[in-house]
Amino acid sequence: MSLFALTIAELREKLRTGEVSAREVTQALLNRIQAVDGKLNAYLWLNPDDALAQAERVDAKSDKLLAGIPIAVKDVLNVDGQPCTCASKILKGYTSVYDAQVITRLKQEGAIILGRTNMDEFAMGSSTENSSWGVTRNPWDLERIPGGSSGGSAACVAGDEAIASLGSDTGGSIRQPAAVTGCVGLKPTYGRVSRYGLVAFASSLDQIGPFTKTVADAATMLRVIAGHDDRDSTSVPRPVPQYSIAGGVKGLRLGLPKEYFIPGMDREVEAAVRAAIRQLGSLGAEIVEISLPHTEYAVAVYYLIATAEASANLARFDGVRYGARVRGEDVIDTYGKTRGAGFGPEVKRRIILGTYALSAGYYDAYYLRAQKVRTLIRQDFEKAFQKCDAIVTPTTAEPAFKIGEKSADPLKMYLCDIFTISCNLAGNCGISVPCGFAGKLPVGLQILGKAFDEETILRVAQAYEQSTDWHKQRPVL
Ligand code: GLN
Repeated sequence: MSLFALTIAELREKLRTGEVSAREVTQALLNRIQAVDGKLNAYLWLNPDDALAQAERVDAKSDKLLAGIPIAVKDVLNVDGQPCTCASKILKGYTSVYDAQVITRLKQEGAIILGRTNMDEFAMGSSTENSSWGVTRNPWDLERIPGGSSGGSAACVAGDEAIASLGSDTGGSIRQPAAVTGCVGLKPTYGRVSRYGLVAFASSLDQIGPFTKTVADAATMLRVIAGHDDRDSTSVPRPVPQYSIAGGVKGLRLGLPKEYFIPGMDREVEAAVRAAIRQLGSLGAEIVEISLPHTEYAVAVYYLIATAEASANLARFDGVRYGARVRGEDVIDTYGKTRGAGFGPEVKRRIILGTYALSAGYYDAYYLRAQKVRTLIRQDFEKAFQKCDAIVTPTTAEPAFKIGEKSADPLKMYLCDIFTISCNLAGNCGISVPCGFAGKLPVGLQILGKAFDEETILRVAQAYEQSTDWHKQRPVL
C-alpha cells in the first residue's frame, strides 16, 4: 500500500524499524498533494522544503508518538513563521510569531507540520464555502462540500493528503466534516486541550481536536495534544490518561436520545446509524432510551452565544494590529474600511447579530436567556449520564450536500449542526466515526461522553470500528 494511505500506527511501526524514513513518508505525501489537491483544494499553504527539512531533522526511530508523521493544521492555529489567515482576507499577509500550544506538543512528539488547511472564514460555517480562498471539495464526490468549518482538515485526511490533521470544533466543526468525508473526528472536553494560539471564534465553546483514519490514531493524537497549559486559564489541570481504547462495550450502557432522530432526516443516514447502534448492542452494550429535552433550543442558543462571543473576539481585527489595512481619512474610518473590505458576508452577519444580542436593552432578552437555557442543556446531559455511560446519535441529519445548495439560506446552513452543537454548549466530549454510506456518501455515528471521559467514547468507537470495515473504504481520486 502507498505510504500516504497508511495510518499513524502503521507508519510509526515502519519508521521505528527503519523500513522507511521520515523523508520518504513526507515526500510521498507531498507527491500525493501535488497529484490530487488541484481537485480538492484542501490546502491553503504548503512549504515542501520546510516539510522535508523537518523530516531530515527528526529521529524517526525514537519512541516519540508522532516521530516522522506528516500532519496538516487548520488555518486557525498559529505556527511560528507560517501565515495564519483563518481563510479571511483581513489576515492576508499576517505571519505568526509563535506556536500554539498544540503545535508545540506536536513538534515535541516529532510530528512534521505539513501545511495549512482551508476552512470557513474564522470557523463560521458548515461547508467551507465561506473561505475567502475558494471552496474545498469532498473527496467522495467533487460536486459536494466536505463539511465545515474544518473542511480542509477533513478532506486532506479523507483524500490521503495527510496522515492526520488538527481542526477546531465550536459547534460541530470537527465531527460534522469528519462524518461527511468518512474519517474519525474527535472533539475533546472543553478545557482538555489548550486553546493558546488558536484564533478565537467563541471562547466558551472552541476546542481543538484531531481528524484521523482510525480511532486508535485519534487516541494517539489526543495523548499528544491534551493537558494543562498555564497560558489558557480554561485548560484544566487534570492528568492526561493513556486513552487506552481496548475493553469493548460489554456492560456499557449507551443512551439513545429520542430527540436525535428527527422528521425530515435522510432515510439512508438514519438506517445506517440505527444499524450501527444495533451492532453495538450485539457487541454487548445495553441500549437505553434517554431524553435530552432542551435539544430543540440548542441551535438558537448557540447562535446567540457564539455570535456574541465572536463579536467581541473579532474586534481585534481592525487594520492596526494584524494583517491587511485599508487606509481611511482617520483611525475610525480606517477601522471601518478595513473591516468592510476584510470580512466576508457571513462573518459580518455574525458580528452584527452578536453585537445586537449584547447591546443595552437586548442583553437580558437574548444573551442572558440564552445562557440560562445553556445551563438547562448542560443539566439535560448530567441527568442523561446518570442512566448511561455514553450517548449514541447520528452526527448529521444528511450526507454531504451539493456545493451552493445551502449558501443562499443561512438558516438552512445553521441546521447542519443540530446534532453536534449541544455537546459544545454542555462542554462534553464527542467523536464521529464512519458507520456506512448513503448512496456513495459517508455517514457518521456520533458518540458523546461525559466531561473528561474521552476514554469511554474512544472505547465505544474502537469496538464499533473493529467490528466493521467502513473505515477501510477510500474514495477514488
Ligand atoms: N457550523 C457552526 C457554525 O457555523 C459550527 C462552526 C464551528 O464549530 N466552528 O458556527
